[in-house]
Amino acid sequence: MDITLSIIKADTGGFVGHTAVHPEMMAAARSEITKAIAEGLLIDGNVAACGDDISLIMTHQREPENAAIHSFAWNVFRETTVIAKRLGLYGAGQDLLSDAFSGNLRGMGPGYAELSFTERPSEPVICFLADKTEPGAWNLPLYKMFADPFNTAGLVIDAKMHAGFRFEVYDLYEEKRIWFDCPKDLYEMLMFIGAPARYVIHRVESPTLGEPAAATSTQRLSLIAGKYVGKDDPVMIVRAQSGLPAVGEVLEPFAFPHTVAGCMRGSHHAPLTPVSLAQAHPSRFDGPPRVVALGFQLHEGKLIGPRDLFDDVAFDGARTTAGEVMDYLRRHGPFEPHRLALEDLEYTTMHELERRLADRWESMGEPVRAQKGIAS
Ligand SMILES: [Mg+2]
Repeated sequence: MDITLSIIKADTGGFVGHTAVHPEMMAAARSEITKAIAEGLLIDGNVAACGDDISLIMTHQREPENAAIHSFAWNVFRETTVIAKRLGLYGAGQDLLSDAFSGNLRGMGPGYAELSFTERPSEPVICFLADKTEPGAWNLPLYKMFADPFNTAGLVIDAKMHAGFRFEVYDLYEEKRIWFDCPKDLYEMLMFIGAPARYVIHRVESPTLGEPAAATSTQRLSLIAGKYVGKDDPVMIVRAQSGLPAVGEVLEPFAFPHTVAGCMRGSHHAPLTPVSLAQAHPSRFDGPPRVVALGFQLHEGKLIGPRDLFDDVAFDGARTTAGEVMDYLRRHGPFEPHRLALEDLEYTTMHELERRLADRWESMGEPVRAQKGIAS
């Protein structure tokens, strides 16, 4: 059967500060999902939280960016905002950037990853939810899953994977996109996706199977709103097995807690820490950034699961490394590279500082290189 898996997420208020979602908000979202299943809008649904973000994980038979599905999610988030306001939770409704819903959620604040496909007889899917980081955080793990034979043995062992995978990459600054065919375009692609603040993998497809394999949320709230309103806290869907990476190959990249942008005030580099749902509450320096992996077997559109896949001692090493990296980076305090480079800072007093100090800066004359006629 043809199915669409949608994860739609938003931060509609934190409990306490930016660390978690209040249980009343989770209960309200779950009750709306139950109603939507009963009414036939959804085949199935699940509600999960990573940090202060609520994720609605839904299956249905409408296309991605469908108005009915997106407006349903919007209304759920309005309802959880009402609860957050009543309880005085932090940043109530912060991801709802508009007063009125129109058509779909693009540019309105909530993030979403959606994938339409024909369900296979056995359909393992993994929903990744992250908090305190940005969509480019998925670049490195997606590269490893679908393009690195040192991570994914199937690229060598499974003939169905020998043709490689196609990656769709967005330029978030210029609103452009490009397809890279890997392994042919591997080195060119790395030049771009190694700069994850700007270039983000949006989709991965298998040319051999003619099937979509992965989708990420790519909304950058800061660019949408023209000001900082919260790190984008991305989500991602990855299908596994039978010509796609195995479940263990999909999870393996997270054994390395790579450094991402986000953490405190969305303005610091810190390690992306793989955790169980019970540990998905970033309370040290609003970090370190967290990722949870919820595994489902999709069957006739039903979400069988989830299995909390990082709830495994095999990821303890990654968590220990992340703790050590966090200690090391924290000792830099307000210095780069712990603090983001100026152009990537989200919360910033720099513009105001420049104005305030403008008349205290004294000119030291023309730059020396200009005086000597050296081209810059
Ligand atoms: Mg968040």
